Amino acid sequence: MLLVKMGGGDFDTDGIAEDLATLDRPFVLLHGANKLRDRLATALGRPPQVVESISGYTSVLSDEDAIDVLLAAYAGIRNKRIVEALRKHGVDAIGLTGLDGGLVEGVQNQGIRVKRGGRRLLLRDQSGKPRSVNGTLLRSLLDQGYTPVLTVPIAGEDGTALNTENDDVLALLASELDASDVVSLIEEVGLLADRDDPSSVVAEVDASELEEWEARVTGRMRRKIRALRSLFDRAGTPGPRFRLSDGRVQRPVTRALAGAGTLVMRKAENRNRGDASEFAEAADDARTSVAGRAAEGPTSESEAWLDRQRHHELDVYGKGGLTLVSGQGSRVQDADGNEYIDCIGGHGALALGHRHPALEAALAEQSKLLWFVPGAYGSPPRTRFLERLHEALPPELDRTFLSNSGTEAMEAALKIARAHTGRTDFVAAVRGFHGRTMGALSIAAEARYRESFEPLLGPVRRVPLNRSSALEEAVDSGVAAVVLEPVQGEGGVHVADPEFLLAARAACDETGALLVFDEVQTGFGRTGRLFAFEHSGVVPDVLCLAKSIAGGLPLGATVVRSGIGLELGTHGSTFGGNPIACAVARATLDVLMDSDLLEQVDPIGDLICEPVRSRSPRIVRETRQVGLMIGIQLKLPARPYVRALQEHGVLALTAGKSVLRLLPPLVLTAGEASEVGGILSEVLSRADDSRSCPW
Ligand code: PLP
Repeated sequence: MLLVKMGGGDFDTDGIAEDLATLDRPFVLLHGANKLRDRLATALGRPPQVVESISGYTSVLSDEDAIDVLLAAYAGIRNKRIVEALRKHGVDAIGLTGLDGGLVEGVQNQGIRVKRGGRRLLLRDQSGKPRSVNGTLLRSLLDQGYTPVLTVPIAGEDGTALNTENDDVLALLASELDASDVVSLIEEVGLLADRDDPSSVVAEVDASELEEWEARVTGRMRRKIRALRSLFDRAGTPGPRFRLSDGRVQRPVTRALAGAGTLVMRKAENRNRGDASEFAEAADDARTSVAGRAAEGPTSESEAWLDRQRHHELDVYGKGGLTLVSGQGSRVQDADGNEYIDCIGGHGALALGHRHPALEAALAEQSKLLWFVPGAYGSPPRTRFLERLHEALPPELDRTFLSNSGTEAMEAALKIARAHTGRTDFVAAVRGFHGRTMGALSIAAEARYRESFEPLLGPVRRVPLNRSSALEEAVDSGVAAVVLEPVQGEGGVHVADPEFLLAARAACDETGALLVFDEVQTGFGRTGRLFAFEHSGVVPDVLCLAKSIAGGLPLGATVVRSGIGLELGTHGSTFGGNPIACAVARATLDVLMDSDLLEQVDPIGDLICEPVRSRSPRIVRETRQVGLMIGIQLKLPARPYVRALQEHGVLALTAGKSVLRLLPPLVLTAGEASEVGGILSEVLSRADDSRSCPW
């Protein structure tokens, strides 16, 4: 169990929420809001009264006014903002104070003894010391898949709201929940050997040294250390690994768990646990819980690689806890020797799975000839690939620009649309996704992808998928292009109706806008046809391709209708159309077009989905499937189920918050598909058996 405390400073709530969401583990979050409270109190004309007690502690006096402001700041604003941010990132957060359900109960202090004008006074103070935490309530919320987000006030003996020190609540929570890891995010880098030198962070402190530390530090840190001593006094053996770490940095919880800041623990008792974080424990659990896949040894190679990578990589992904090292067909192996059926399939880039023999041969052959040919020169593998691609396409789509990725294919399409029409606006679908570069990002529907980078390209008019009337209304003579995915991938596997695509075609024909189909994810057999537009028969003016085009090597393609193009010198790419990628892409097309693989796509997809459909677990709202593009819409966040599948030897991914997505290679065998279907229905049905999410 992970317990996180976020201090009362002005931390980046959204960044921390995102970081916590990527941990994919149950946790309880305790937070403060003292800076916000002070600002609010001042704004309301009730500035906080700071008093110094005779024993030398300064604190804010909690009179009735102060408790009102505290409720507004802690429970009303900060708590709900954190819940909002966590829910946005897919965590089913529930906001609570210690008052709710008597979650944290305490005893009111007698008051604060102060000296005023040489006299000793006892100031009445609505604050107290926490005594007990209702662990049953917290555990039952956790069992049901909720993440408790807790703050003050707590409940006094007669139910009165009391202010208290969150560090004392943390100590109680840690012992009540038997937390193995506690992360306390503060506005400092950790405990310092030299208080004037921020680079003198002490990496590890034994719990037995805390008394000494309490004497060394001052102010709020002294209070923290005192609470920490009480935490270790209460904790069983071996006790938690407690991290005091900087909350102002990016991904602060991940960094703390990876070793940033100061780690306080009972060193002797923790020695056998190595320096494993809860991540590594989870990896250990995963290994031992997967019969036949268990790897011996106390440490995880996967985690060791990830830890090293985390030191240097700007992490924008949130790692899934695995390091993959080898694979063939639909199976991959991790650094610890565990094997998985790969239903991530390179995020849909591996139509022919890993290391298909025909692709391996094409790669080996071209690697002995030439690795790079500039775009201005002829290149036989490029020529052969283009010829094979255009054999597969309708004749009116007769030219292609080659790049390296889906987003570049889209970027070229947007430039082509503007240059060809002389117009600026775009029409796209709600829930659409088209890549991460600035142009492609502008078209993406979800604000969370876009908002930190604005202003972007525009204007973009977004219409609900399959609402033809809205689309017809949006497309006028100011629109350069209508950009659509025939099946939305990242948006959660939503299929565009043929009527909607026909309406888009007609609207474009009428207004002169270009119709752009983004088949980056649906292309090359994923939906059972080589291209998804074949299902509706609607041919676009521009077709964007990437992902499965070259067996996992980087290659993108923007195909245009005859008569559409770009002026010489107005676009280009150094690596686009790389000869090795093109040789592999040509071999990919050979396999897809000359075998009966595409005919197998639907029945193999059915073998995966059928067990889920027939067992219909309560947690499943809907199963959407087009060939081997599968989206299972859940009633809960999907991430814990991705983890559960991984523990059972199946790699899957999410689409948005609550869609479990599978994009397995088209070479998945019937046996493998049945195995995946069985595991999937079992994992999803276990939620029914336990009446809650068991992970
Ligand atoms: N378009 C669609 C439909 C996609 O699904 C993606 C990626 O997931 C992209 C574009 C961007 O592709 P890439 O990641 O290769 O840039």
